[in-house]
Amino acid sequence: QATDTLAREGPSSPSYDWFQTDSLVTIVVYTKQKDITLDSVIVDHQDDSFRAETIIKDYSYLINIELSHAVQGDFSVRIVENVGKIEIVLKKKENTSWKCLGHPLENHNSLVPKKDADTEIVKPYTPVSDSLLSEFKEPALPNNKYIYFLIKIYPAGLFTPELDHLQIGDFVFVSNPEGNFKTSQFQELEDLFLLAAGTGFTPMVKLLNYALTNIPSLRKVKLMFFNKTEDDIIWRSHLEELTFKDKRFDVEFVLSAPISEWNGKQGHVSPALLSEFLKRSSDKSKVLICICGPTPFTEQGIKFLHELNFSKDEIHSFTA
Ligand code: FAD
Ligand code: NAD
Repeated sequence: QATDTLAREGPSSPSYDWFQTDSLVTIVVYTKQKDITLDSVIVDHQDDSFRAETIIKDYSYLINIELSHAVQGDFSVRIVENVGKIEIVLKKKENTSWKCLGHPLENHNSLVPKKDADTEIVKPYTPVSDSLLSEFKEPALPNNKYIYFLIKIYPAGLFTPELDHLQIGDFVFVSNPEGNFKTSQFQELEDLFLLAAGTGFTPMVKLLNYALTNIPSLRKVKLMFFNKTEDDIIWRSHLEELTFKDKRFDVEFVLSAPISEWNGKQGHVSPALLSEFLKRSSDKSKVLICICGPTPFTEQGIKFLHELNFSKDEIHSFTA
């Protein structure tokens, strides 16, 4: 529908095109290079702004557009290596026909020498407390200048290896906090169930500390913590210690890739695991279930919770 081509020096000019079905929009970048891999492509989109940077030898080719319609959060990227084609498939929020892809933003459809390309990487992280057992008070440090994070380093990741290599004195920029959890969701709460997978545990840290300290109506707090292996369980000893310290709290670990000696719970999130775990302290007790983890975990979990007749108001999911 709309094809732009570039005429410049450097590698053969890339171009792009797009097409749509009822539910999908596909943006195709023709790099005209044969050695393009997934690592050469950085896709970033938020609300209706869309940016895809392709590294081509010492150059960077940019698609930077304000999309004409809203798209969903997830997308897929496919490389057809032998022809150097990149396909980025976005899911439309509404099944309407788009008249155009959108409006060009800065440097859209341009090829710039890589040294001039300045890529900003933005990733969300959840502040935690310094520990689960800090007697439930914020650390008394000068001007409250400290902020704690629990961040998993992915050796093949884009951002976390960079973070891992920071030296004292280096800078990272931190935005204002964002999020939609309200402590009013805890009002009169009797049973709090937390479902966390991997680093999806991080939002649960402050919830646990807050609920156990500030909600007098609270009778039961249970965490079901899903991980691949025992070694992946974050703060296991703190959690186990907390079960001794506070009788209202209990934790269950579920492993998806345990060694054969593991005699705890196994598998992925499932209706069977959830229905056994989510026992109210009384028939009509006020319940809140918080869930966080990899997107498929959270989506499946919410679906199972609805099947178990928990209402929307009784579920809070932490998502991007
Ligand atoms: P990425 O580049 O995103 O890669 C992560 C892994 O996926 C790597 O192993 C990589 O090889 C693989 N991968 C990447 N792309 C592909 C692909 N196309 N196909 C197959 N595999 C691929 N994380 C924390 O550790 N702590 C937190 O407190 C935390 N809070 C978060 C809060 C929110 C609201 C959200 C949405 C996420 C949070 N995360 C948190 C996750 C965090 O934002 C990053 O996603 C994470 O750190 C990975 O970033 P990265 O750039 O290093 O890795
Ligand atoms: P991981 O890959 O180690 O997996 C942990 C567990 O998640 C697995 O044992 C399994 O039980 C479950 N799981 C993983 N993939 C699944 C799938 N496809 N279907 C069903 N269950 C699945 O997890 P990780 O590397 O620690 O990743 C944690 C995720 O949590 C990241 O995607 C991160 O972005 C997300 N997160 C989100 C927030 C938020 O506030 N939205 C906060 C922190 C982390």
